[in-house]
Parts: sequence; structure tokens; C-alpha cells
Amino acid sequence: MIQITMPLNFLGTVYREIRQALVDMAEMFDLLDQPPDVSDAPDAADLTVGKGEVCFEQVEFGYDAARPILKGINLTVAGGETVAIVGPSGSGKSTIGRLLFRFYDVTGGAIRIDGQDLREVTQSSLHGAIGVVPQDTVLFNDTIAYNIAYGREGASREEIEAAAKAARIHDFILSLPEGYDTAVGERGLKLSGGEKQRVGIARTLLKNPPILLLDEATSALDTQTEQSIQDSLRQMGKGRTVLTIAHRLSTVVDADRIIVLEDGHIVEEGSHDGLLAQNGRYAAMWARQSVEVE
Ligand code: ADP
Ligand code: MG
Repeated sequence: MIQITMPLNFLGTVYREIRQALVDMAEMFDLLDQPPDVSDAPDAADLTVGKGEVCFEQVEFGYDAARPILKGINLTVAGGETVAIVGPSGSGKSTIGRLLFRFYDVTGGAIRIDGQDLREVTQSSLHGAIGVVPQDTVLFNDTIAYNIAYGREGASREEIEAAAKAARIHDFILSLPEGYDTAVGERGLKLSGGEKQRVGIARTLLKNPPILLLDEATSALDTQTEQSIQDSLRQMGKGRTVLTIAHRLSTVVDADRIIVLEDGHIVEEGSHDGLLAQNGRYAAMWARQSVEVE
């Protein structure tokens, strides 16, 4: 990432969007570990987001034709709804996120945001509408203010501080030797996992996207930090459409709806309580995870 962004920093504002796309790509290292494989249609229009409804219609996809990964996914996430996707490793959870960000095109069916097929909108507008909070936020070798402002080019110091406050990292920043002007990253102050995640949250708050995509790689954070981060994420999800690839029990319980994915199929769907009552795959997963947590 460093090798790519350093030269780009010298190329000026023309490359602002490319640079933002690179940040988004870096941020999605786990979720979207591939460069985009698609380009804008010649007549692509900008995505316009109203309610923020995300719709997977009979979606089929495979990284290569010989091996289907998603085998007919039908899923509508209503505007403002939070949906958690759970399922065994390799079942296709992160792939769903990659497709929503249009790193690949579906091989069957369609994905729409407020009725607009992802293949018919510009990638810059699509990426602008979706915020990603990764497990491991990438920090640039620059000030902490700069790192937060990456969420939105041209943000004022007041806006940066407001985002930091909402992400509950403002007080920590003020305690640093040079406050918001403290250099962080590989060549500056190293932040803890929880602090980096809060920078990621502040960045996303500043970007203010209507849709959030969260891929929670199994957390390396201690329980208390994790709970408090979870709280901030929940706060950020208010009024937005949220698709979470969930590993944390708390996320799953709080979601409006839970989707259980297995081998590229949705095999169960419902609320936490509803799924427990079904006593099927989710209930079994839950029982297993609860034991692990204890
Ligand atoms: P999950 O997030 O549920 O663990 P993924 O969506 O990451 O699963 O992966 C689903 C399947 O697709 C896995 O079998 C994985 O090996 C395969 N896969 C993921 N990325 C690629 C890729 N870039 N090329 C080929 N196969 C991939
Ligand atoms: Mg995954």
C-alpha cells in the first residue's frame, strides 16, 4: 500500500478519486483482497441513494466458472436495516461483500441499490455510497488529523474533531504530544488495534455513507475494547443500511435480521430469537460459540 500511495501523493488532485479508491481497497484488505476486475459501463450514471435498499436477486457467482461460490442468493436489506451474515468459513460471506462493492460482477442475477443495477452505475459513486470499517484500519505516515480526513477530502478541522468525538477517540488524540498533528503510522506513533479501529470509524463517520459494510475478522481486541467499539459501530449504523459479516455474538444478537449462509446458499433467516427457536444450524452455531466465549 505504501509503495502505491506514495507516488500518487505527488500527482495532485486529479487523482483524488483514484486515491480514495486505493484507501477503500486497503481498508478492505480482508473483505476485498483483490483489485477491481470491472470497469464503468460507457453510459454509467451516478448512483443515487434514497432509502438505501440493497437487493440481491438470484445472485450467482464463482471466481472461476468451474466452481460456483454463490448459488442463487436472494436477499433484500431494507433501507436502515441491519443484517448480519453468519456461516462457516468458506461459505461465501466475504464474497457477498466483494460483490456489493462490485469488485466482481455477478455471473447470474443482479445486485441493486435502490433499484439501480450495480453494473449500470459509476464505481466512484458506488464506492462513495458504501462505508467500510475493516478489522485492521490502514494508517498512513501522516498526522492523525490527516488519517481521519481520508474519510472525506477537504474536511475542516472542526468536522474532523466532531467525527473523532463521535468515534470516541478525541480525548485520546488530545492526550498525544501534538494532538491532532501527531504523526502516526509505521514511521510515527503506533496505535493499538482498538485505537486504529476508532480512526477507521471516525473516517467512515466523516465520509457519512448511507450504506455500511462490515467484515469482522475474528477480533484480536480484548473484550472491553471490543464491546466499546461495538457500541460505536452500533451508533454509526443508526439511520444507515448495514450489512455485517458477523463473528461477534453481540453483533448477531443486535441485528434486525440474521442470514445463515452455507455453501453459497441461504439456509436460514430470521431474528436471533426466532432462529434459536428453530433449533437448526444457527442454534447449533450459537451454542458452540457461547461455549467458546465462556
Ligand atoms: P467466507 O468469507 O464465508 O469465509 P469467502 O467468501 O471469502 O468465504 O470465500 C468463499 C469461497 O471462495 C472459498 O472457498 C474461497 O476459497 C473462495 N475464494 C475466495 N476468494 C477467492 C479468489 N480470489 N479466487 C478464487 N477463490 C476464492
Ligand atoms: Mg470472510
